[in-house]
Amino acid sequence: NRVDNPYAGAKVYVNPDWSAKASAESGGSRIANQPTGVWMDRIAAISGTTGARGLASHLDEAVRQAAGTPLVIQLVIYNLPGRDCAALASNGELGATEINRYKTEYIDPIAAILARPAYANLRIVTVVEIDSLPNLVTNVTPRPTQTPQCDVMKANGNYVTGVGYALAKLGAVPNVYNYLDIGHHGWLGWDDNFGPSAELLFQAANASGATKANVQGFIANTANYGILTEPNFTIDESVNGTPVRQSKWVDWNRYTGELPYAQAFRQRAVQAGFDANVGMLIDTSRNGWGGAARPSGPGPKTTVDTYVDGGRLDRRIHLGNWCNQSGAGIGERPKAAPASGIDAYVWIKPPGESDGASEDIPNNEGKGFDRMCDPTYTGNPRNNNNLSGALGNAPLSGHWFSAQFQELMRNAYPAL
Ligand code: BGC
Repeated sequence: NRVDNPYAGAKVYVNPDWSAKASAESGGSRIANQPTGVWMDRIAAISGTTGARGLASHLDEAVRQAAGTPLVIQLVIYNLPGRDCAALASNGELGATEINRYKTEYIDPIAAILARPAYANLRIVTVVEIDSLPNLVTNVTPRPTQTPQCDVMKANGNYVTGVGYALAKLGAVPNVYNYLDIGHHGWLGWDDNFGPSAELLFQAANASGATKANVQGFIANTANYGILTEPNFTIDESVNGTPVRQSKWVDWNRYTGELPYAQAFRQRAVQAGFDANVGMLIDTSRNGWGGAARPSGPGPKTTVDTYVDGGRLDRRIHLGNWCNQSGAGIGERPKAAPASGIDAYVWIKPPGESDGASEDIPNNEGKGFDRMCDPTYTGNPRNNNNLSGALGNAPLSGHWFSAQFQELMRNAYPAL
Protein backbone atom coordinates (compact mmCIF):
# COMPACT_ATOMS: atom_id res chain seq x y z
CA ASN A 1 0.00 0.00 0.00
CA ARG A 2 2.94 2.36 -0.50
CA VAL A 3 2.47 5.21 -2.96
CA ASP A 4 5.21 6.00 -5.49
CA ASN A 5 6.07 9.42 -4.04
CA PRO A 6 5.04 9.76 -0.38
CA TYR A 7 5.33 13.56 -0.55
CA ALA A 8 2.83 13.92 -3.39
CA GLY A 9 -0.42 15.31 -2.03
CA ALA A 10 0.77 15.13 1.57
CA LYS A 11 1.51 17.59 4.36
CA VAL A 12 4.85 17.19 6.12
CA TYR A 13 5.30 17.05 9.90
CA VAL A 14 6.42 20.19 11.73
CA ASN A 15 8.59 19.26 14.72
CA PRO A 16 7.22 21.37 17.60
CA ASP A 17 10.54 21.21 19.47
CA TRP A 18 12.48 22.76 16.57
CA SER A 19 9.64 25.09 15.75
CA ALA A 20 9.69 26.55 19.28
CA LYS A 21 13.43 27.30 19.02
CA ALA A 22 13.00 28.89 15.60
CA SER A 23 10.07 31.06 16.72
CA ALA A 24 12.00 32.26 19.75
CA GLU A 25 14.56 33.84 17.39
CA SER A 26 14.03 37.33 16.03
CA GLY A 27 12.52 36.86 12.55
CA GLY A 28 12.31 33.10 13.10
CA SER A 29 8.55 32.95 12.70
CA ARG A 30 9.13 33.29 8.92
CA ILE A 31 10.32 29.68 8.81
CA ALA A 32 9.20 28.16 12.12
CA ASN A 33 6.24 26.42 10.48
CA GLN A 34 8.44 24.52 7.99
CA PRO A 35 8.84 20.74 8.28
CA THR A 36 12.27 19.51 9.44
CA GLY A 37 13.81 16.10 10.11
CA VAL A 38 13.44 14.38 13.48
CA TRP A 39 16.81 12.92 14.41
CA MET A 40 17.00 9.65 16.33
CA ASP A 41 20.66 10.34 17.05
CA ARG A 42 21.12 8.07 20.08
CA ILE A 43 19.23 5.38 21.95
CA ALA A 44 17.92 7.92 24.47
CA ALA A 45 16.26 9.92 21.67
CA ILE A 46 13.72 7.10 21.28
CA SER A 47 12.20 7.82 24.68
CA GLY A 48 13.09 11.52 24.61
CA THR A 49 15.82 13.79 25.95
CA THR A 50 15.86 17.25 27.53
CA GLY A 51 14.10 19.58 25.12
CA ALA A 52 13.30 16.83 22.60
CA ARG A 53 10.22 14.63 22.87
CA GLY A 54 10.48 10.89 22.20
CA LEU A 55 9.49 8.98 19.09
CA ALA A 56 5.97 7.93 20.11
CA SER A 57 5.21 11.48 21.21
CA HIS A 58 6.31 12.78 17.79
CA LEU A 59 4.13 10.20 16.06
CA ASP A 60 1.11 11.07 18.24
CA GLU A 61 1.60 14.72 17.33
CA ALA A 62 1.98 13.72 13.66
CA VAL A 63 -1.38 11.94 13.78
CA ARG A 64 -2.84 15.12 15.25
CA GLN A 65 -1.26 17.33 12.54
CA ALA A 66 -2.49 14.94 9.85
CA ALA A 67 -6.08 15.39 10.97
CA GLY A 68 -7.15 12.54 8.75
CA THR A 69 -5.23 13.63 5.63
CA PRO A 70 -1.95 12.21 4.22
CA LEU A 71 1.09 13.34 6.20
CA VAL A 72 4.80 12.53 5.89
CA ILE A 73 6.97 12.42 9.02
CA GLN A 74 10.73 12.44 8.38
CA LEU A 75 12.92 10.42 10.76
CA VAL A 76 16.69 10.27 10.63
CA ILE A 77 18.14 6.88 11.57
CA TYR A 78 21.63 7.78 12.77
CA ASN A 79 23.37 5.60 15.34
CA LEU A 80 25.59 3.02 13.61
CA PRO A 81 28.44 1.40 15.49
CA GLY A 82 31.60 3.47 14.95
CA ARG A 83 29.47 6.32 13.57
CA ASP A 84 30.98 9.04 11.38
CA CYS A 85 34.34 7.32 10.88
CA ALA A 86 35.97 10.17 8.94
CA ALA A 87 34.96 12.97 11.31
CA LEU A 88 34.77 13.52 15.04
CA ALA A 89 31.94 16.02 15.56
CA SER A 90 29.20 13.38 15.36
CA ASN A 91 30.93 10.27 16.61
CA GLY A 92 28.18 8.33 18.31
CA GLU A 93 27.61 6.33 21.44
CA LEU A 94 28.21 2.85 19.96
CA GLY A 95 31.72 1.47 19.58
CA ALA A 96 32.86 -0.14 16.32
CA THR A 97 31.85 -3.65 17.40
CA GLU A 98 28.50 -2.88 19.08
CA ILE A 99 26.31 -4.11 16.22
CA ASN A 100 24.11 -6.17 18.54
CA ARG A 101 23.24 -3.14 20.66
CA TYR A 102 22.45 -1.27 17.42
CA LYS A 103 19.99 -4.00 16.49
CA THR A 104 18.35 -4.73 19.83
CA GLU A 105 18.49 -1.39 21.67
CA TYR A 106 18.06 0.95 18.70
CA ILE A 107 16.50 -0.45 15.50
CA ASP A 108 14.17 -3.03 17.10
CA PRO A 109 12.52 -0.56 19.52
CA ILE A 110 12.13 2.04 16.75
CA ALA A 111 10.56 -0.53 14.41
CA ALA A 112 8.19 -1.69 17.16
CA ILE A 113 6.93 1.85 17.75
CA LEU A 114 6.54 2.58 14.02
CA ALA A 115 4.47 -0.60 13.62
CA ARG A 116 1.81 0.46 16.14
CA PRO A 117 -1.65 0.45 14.53
CA ALA A 118 -2.22 4.06 15.63
CA TYR A 119 0.44 5.18 13.15
CA ALA A 120 -0.62 3.04 10.19
CA ASN A 121 -1.92 5.98 8.17
CA LEU A 122 1.22 8.09 8.47
CA ARG A 123 3.76 8.07 5.66
CA ILE A 124 6.95 7.50 7.61
CA VAL A 125 10.06 8.55 5.68
CA THR A 126 13.30 7.23 7.17
CA VAL A 127 16.63 8.74 6.16
CA VAL A 128 18.93 5.81 6.72
CA GLU A 129 22.38 6.31 8.18
CA ILE A 130 23.86 9.40 6.61
CA ASP A 131 27.63 9.60 6.07
CA SER A 132 28.16 5.88 6.55
CA LEU A 133 28.56 3.76 3.40
CA PRO A 134 30.19 6.52 1.27
CA ASN A 135 32.98 6.64 3.86
CA LEU A 136 33.77 3.01 3.06
CA VAL A 137 34.43 4.00 -0.55
CA THR A 138 36.30 7.26 -0.17
CA ASN A 139 37.97 7.28 3.24
CA VAL A 140 39.70 3.91 3.35
CA THR A 141 43.18 2.59 2.50
CA PRO A 142 44.85 3.19 0.02
CA ARG A 143 43.22 6.60 -0.47
CA PRO A 144 45.14 9.61 0.88
CA THR A 145 41.87 10.59 2.61
CA GLN A 146 41.89 7.34 4.60
CA THR A 147 41.17 7.25 8.34
CA PRO A 148 41.97 4.30 10.63
CA GLN A 149 38.36 4.29 11.90
CA CYS A 150 36.91 3.90 8.38
CA ASP A 151 39.36 1.07 7.67
CA VAL A 152 38.02 -0.64 10.80
CA MET A 153 34.38 -0.21 9.76
CA LYS A 154 35.08 -1.53 6.29
CA ALA A 155 36.94 -4.55 7.66
CA ASN A 156 34.36 -5.48 10.32
CA GLY A 157 31.39 -5.02 7.98
CA ASN A 158 29.21 -3.40 10.62
CA TYR A 159 28.08 -0.46 8.48
CA VAL A 160 26.83 -2.84 5.78
CA THR A 161 25.30 -5.22 8.32
CA GLY A 162 23.67 -2.35 10.24
CA VAL A 163 22.25 -0.58 7.18
CA GLY A 164 20.86 -3.87 5.86
CA TYR A 165 19.29 -4.61 9.22
CA ALA A 166 17.73 -1.15 9.46
CA LEU A 167 16.31 -1.42 5.93
CA ALA A 168 14.86 -4.87 6.56
CA LYS A 169 13.35 -4.14 9.98
CA LEU A 170 11.99 -0.69 9.23
CA GLY A 171 10.98 -1.74 5.72
CA ALA A 172 8.84 -4.52 7.17
CA VAL A 173 6.48 -1.80 8.42
CA PRO A 174 4.21 -1.24 5.40
CA ASN A 175 3.95 2.53 5.73
CA VAL A 176 7.71 3.14 6.08
CA TYR A 177 9.63 4.61 3.13
CA ASN A 178 13.39 4.03 3.42
CA TYR A 179 15.74 6.53 1.75
CA LEU A 180 19.45 5.69 1.73
CA ASP A 181 22.03 8.42 2.09
CA ILE A 182 24.20 9.22 -0.96
CA GLY A 183 26.35 12.00 0.49
CA HIS A 184 26.50 14.93 -1.92
CA HIS A 185 28.09 15.93 -5.23
CA GLY A 186 31.17 17.31 -3.50
CA TRP A 187 31.82 13.88 -2.08
CA LEU A 188 30.71 11.21 -4.55
CA GLY A 189 30.60 13.28 -7.76
CA TRP A 190 33.96 11.94 -8.96
CA ASP A 191 34.02 8.85 -11.21
CA ASP A 192 36.11 6.85 -8.71
CA ASN A 193 33.44 7.33 -6.03
CA PHE A 194 30.14 7.45 -7.91
CA GLY A 195 29.67 3.94 -9.36
CA PRO A 196 31.40 2.11 -6.49
CA SER A 197 29.07 3.87 -4.02
CA ALA A 198 25.98 2.79 -5.97
CA GLU A 199 27.29 -0.79 -5.97
CA LEU A 200 28.05 -0.73 -2.24
CA LEU A 201 24.58 0.64 -1.46
CA PHE A 202 23.07 -2.22 -3.44
CA GLN A 203 25.19 -4.69 -1.49
CA ALA A 204 23.95 -3.19 1.80
CA ALA A 205 20.38 -3.29 0.49
CA ASN A 206 20.78 -7.04 0.21
CA ALA A 207 22.47 -7.60 3.59
CA SER A 208 20.91 -8.82 6.87
CA GLY A 209 17.69 -9.94 5.18
CA ALA A 210 17.02 -6.70 3.30
CA THR A 211 16.04 -6.63 -0.36
CA LYS A 212 15.80 -3.83 -2.89
CA ALA A 213 12.06 -3.71 -2.15
CA ASN A 214 13.06 -2.14 1.19
CA VAL A 215 14.54 0.90 -0.57
CA GLN A 216 12.17 3.59 -1.87
CA GLY A 217 14.89 6.06 -2.75
CA PHE A 218 17.97 8.06 -1.85
CA ILE A 219 18.80 11.38 -0.26
CA ALA A 220 21.52 13.83 -1.31
CA ASN A 221 23.08 16.74 0.59
CA THR A 222 21.87 15.85 4.09
CA ALA A 223 23.26 18.51 6.44
CA ASN A 224 25.55 19.73 3.66
CA TYR A 225 25.78 23.00 1.77
CA GLY A 226 25.89 21.99 -1.93
CA ILE A 227 23.99 24.32 -4.25
CA LEU A 228 21.16 22.82 -6.37
CA THR A 229 22.58 24.16 -9.66
CA GLU A 230 25.24 26.68 -10.68
CA PRO A 231 23.64 28.96 -13.27
CA ASN A 232 26.80 30.92 -14.24
CA PHE A 233 28.84 28.10 -15.81
CA THR A 234 28.32 24.56 -17.05
CA ILE A 235 30.42 21.46 -16.62
CA ASP A 236 30.96 21.14 -20.40
CA GLU A 237 32.37 24.63 -21.08
CA SER A 238 35.98 25.63 -21.58
CA VAL A 239 37.81 28.92 -21.00
CA ASN A 240 40.80 29.61 -23.27
CA GLY A 241 40.84 25.90 -24.07
CA THR A 242 40.77 24.73 -20.42
CA PRO A 243 37.67 22.75 -19.41
CA VAL A 244 35.63 23.91 -16.40
CA ARG A 245 36.18 20.45 -14.97
CA GLN A 246 39.86 21.37 -14.59
CA SER A 247 39.19 24.51 -12.55
CA LYS A 248 40.45 24.44 -8.96
CA TRP A 249 36.89 24.55 -7.62
CA VAL A 250 35.41 21.74 -9.76
CA ASP A 251 38.64 19.71 -9.72
CA TRP A 252 37.44 17.03 -12.21
CA ASN A 253 34.08 16.47 -10.52
CA ARG A 254 31.31 15.48 -12.99
CA TYR A 255 28.71 17.74 -11.35
CA THR A 256 28.41 21.34 -10.24
CA GLY A 257 25.29 20.91 -8.11
CA GLU A 258 23.03 18.57 -6.18
CA LEU A 259 20.20 18.45 -8.69
CA PRO A 260 22.15 17.02 -11.65
CA TYR A 261 24.05 14.82 -9.18
CA ALA A 262 20.90 13.34 -7.64
CA GLN A 263 19.28 12.78 -11.04
CA ALA A 264 22.39 11.00 -12.36
CA PHE A 265 22.77 8.93 -9.19
CA ARG A 266 19.20 7.74 -9.55
CA GLN A 267 20.03 6.26 -12.94
CA ARG A 268 23.28 4.73 -11.72
CA ALA A 269 21.46 3.16 -8.75
CA VAL A 270 18.91 1.58 -11.07
CA GLN A 271 21.79 0.26 -13.15
CA ALA A 272 23.27 -1.23 -9.95
CA GLY A 273 20.02 -3.16 -9.44
CA PHE A 274 17.64 -0.89 -7.53
CA ASP A 275 13.99 -0.59 -8.59
CA ALA A 276 13.31 1.64 -11.58
CA ASN A 277 10.86 3.79 -9.63
CA VAL A 278 13.19 4.89 -6.80
CA GLY A 279 12.91 8.61 -6.02
CA MET A 280 15.37 11.18 -4.75
CA LEU A 281 15.29 13.68 -1.90
CA ILE A 282 17.58 16.70 -1.65
CA ASP A 283 18.23 18.51 1.64
CA THR A 284 17.89 22.21 0.81
CA SER A 285 17.88 23.48 4.38
CA ARG A 286 21.17 25.35 4.08
CA ASN A 287 22.19 25.50 0.40
CA GLY A 288 20.63 28.82 -0.67
CA TRP A 289 23.83 30.94 -0.83
CA GLY A 290 21.92 34.22 -1.15
CA GLY A 291 22.78 37.53 0.47
CA ALA A 292 25.16 40.32 -0.54
CA ALA A 293 28.02 38.01 -1.63
CA ARG A 294 25.92 36.17 -4.24
CA PRO A 295 27.40 36.75 -7.73
CA SER A 296 24.98 38.37 -10.14
CA GLY A 297 26.51 36.80 -13.25
CA PRO A 298 29.44 34.82 -14.67
CA GLY A 299 33.03 35.58 -13.67
CA PRO A 300 35.56 37.10 -16.12
CA LYS A 301 36.99 34.72 -18.73
CA THR A 302 40.59 35.60 -17.85
CA THR A 303 41.30 32.05 -16.73
CA VAL A 304 39.08 29.09 -16.00
CA ASP A 305 39.49 29.85 -12.30
CA THR A 306 38.48 33.53 -12.50
CA TYR A 307 35.46 32.41 -14.50
CA VAL A 308 34.32 29.67 -12.12
CA ASP A 309 35.26 31.43 -8.87
CA GLY A 310 33.71 34.72 -10.00
CA GLY A 311 30.43 33.10 -10.94
CA ARG A 312 29.86 30.32 -8.47
CA LEU A 313 27.01 30.70 -6.01
CA ASP A 314 28.51 28.21 -3.55
CA ARG A 315 30.95 30.52 -1.74
CA ARG A 316 32.76 27.88 0.31
CA ILE A 317 36.55 27.99 0.48
CA HIS A 318 36.60 24.35 -0.65
CA LEU A 319 33.86 21.96 -1.71
CA GLY A 320 34.94 19.50 1.00
CA ASN A 321 34.16 21.94 3.84
CA TRP A 322 31.13 20.75 5.81
CA CYS A 323 30.97 22.31 9.25
CA ASN A 324 28.86 25.43 10.05
CA GLN A 325 29.80 27.11 6.78
CA SER A 326 30.25 30.86 6.93
CA GLY A 327 28.09 32.71 4.40
CA ALA A 328 25.51 29.94 3.90
CA GLY A 329 21.78 30.62 3.65
CA ILE A 330 18.47 28.79 3.82
CA GLY A 331 17.70 27.14 0.45
CA GLU A 332 14.54 26.16 -1.39
CA ARG A 333 11.55 25.69 0.87
CA PRO A 334 10.39 22.07 1.27
CA LYS A 335 8.42 21.06 -1.81
CA ALA A 336 7.03 17.87 -3.35
CA ALA A 337 8.09 16.69 -6.82
CA PRO A 338 10.11 19.81 -7.75
CA ALA A 339 12.00 18.23 -10.69
CA SER A 340 12.24 15.03 -12.71
CA GLY A 341 13.18 12.05 -10.53
CA ILE A 342 13.07 14.13 -7.34
CA ASP A 343 10.41 13.15 -4.77
CA ALA A 344 10.96 16.32 -2.72
CA TYR A 345 13.17 19.11 -1.50
CA VAL A 346 13.33 18.59 2.24
CA TRP A 347 14.88 20.21 5.31
CA ILE A 348 16.44 17.24 7.06
CA LYS A 349 19.12 19.19 8.92
CA PRO A 350 17.12 21.57 11.09
CA PRO A 351 18.46 25.09 10.40
CA GLY A 352 20.05 26.51 13.56
CA GLU A 353 21.39 23.18 14.82
CA SER A 354 25.19 23.14 14.87
CA ASP A 355 27.31 20.73 12.82
CA GLY A 356 29.94 20.58 15.53
CA ALA A 357 31.71 22.57 18.23
CA SER A 358 34.43 25.01 17.20
CA GLU A 359 36.49 24.00 20.24
CA ASP A 360 36.69 20.97 22.52
CA ILE A 361 33.56 20.80 24.73
CA PRO A 362 33.27 17.88 27.17
CA ASN A 363 29.90 16.09 26.83
CA ASN A 364 28.12 12.79 27.43
CA GLU A 365 26.69 12.46 23.89
CA GLY A 366 29.77 10.83 22.38
CA LYS A 367 30.50 13.99 20.38
CA GLY A 368 34.16 14.62 19.62
CA PHE A 369 35.96 17.79 18.56
CA ASP A 370 36.57 17.95 14.82
CA ARG A 371 38.90 20.71 13.76
CA MET A 372 36.91 21.11 10.54
CA CYS A 373 34.59 23.09 12.85
CA ASP A 374 37.44 25.36 14.03
CA PRO A 375 37.76 28.50 11.88
CA THR A 376 41.54 28.59 12.42
CA TYR A 377 42.12 25.04 11.15
CA THR A 378 44.08 24.79 7.90
CA GLY A 379 42.63 21.50 6.80
CA ASN A 380 43.52 17.91 5.87
CA PRO A 381 43.54 15.83 2.66
CA ARG A 382 39.71 15.66 2.66
CA ASN A 383 39.44 19.40 2.03
CA ASN A 384 42.77 19.60 0.18
CA ASN A 385 44.34 21.42 3.13
CA ASN A 386 42.23 24.54 2.99
CA LEU A 387 40.82 26.66 5.80
CA SER A 388 37.69 25.10 7.29
CA GLY A 389 35.38 28.05 6.54
CA ALA A 390 33.49 27.30 9.78
CA LEU A 391 31.80 29.91 11.96
CA GLY A 392 33.39 30.48 15.37
CA ASN A 393 31.74 30.06 18.78
CA ALA A 394 29.78 27.01 17.69
CA PRO A 395 28.20 24.64 20.24
CA LEU A 396 28.19 20.82 20.05
CA SER A 397 26.62 19.20 17.00
CA GLY A 398 22.85 19.23 17.25
CA HIS A 399 22.80 22.06 19.81
CA TRP A 400 21.15 25.40 19.04
CA PHE A 401 23.43 27.92 17.32
CA SER A 402 21.61 31.22 17.26
CA ALA A 403 24.24 33.19 15.31
CA GLN A 404 24.19 30.58 12.54
CA PHE A 405 20.40 30.55 12.44
CA GLN A 406 20.38 34.33 11.99
CA GLU A 407 22.98 34.20 9.21
CA LEU A 408 21.10 31.41 7.43
CA MET A 409 17.96 33.56 7.41
CA ARG A 410 19.88 36.65 6.21
CA ASN A 411 21.40 34.70 3.32
CA ALA A 412 18.28 32.76 2.38
CA TYR A 413 17.69 32.21 -1.34
CA PRO A 414 14.91 32.52 -2.31
CA ALA A 415 14.89 35.35 0.25
CA LEU A 416 12.45 35.04 3.15
C1 BGC B 1 24.27 15.60 15.35
C2 BGC B 1 22.96 15.12 15.94
C3 BGC B 1 21.85 16.10 15.61
C4 BGC B 1 21.79 16.35 14.12
C5 BGC B 1 20.74 17.36 13.73
C6 BGC B 1 24.11 15.89 13.90
O1 BGC B 1 25.28 16.46 13.40
O2 BGC B 1 25.28 14.66 15.58
O3 BGC B 1 23.10 15.01 17.34
O4 BGC B 1 20.61 15.60 16.05
O5 BGC B 1 23.04 16.80 13.67
O6 BGC B 1 21.05 18.64 14.12
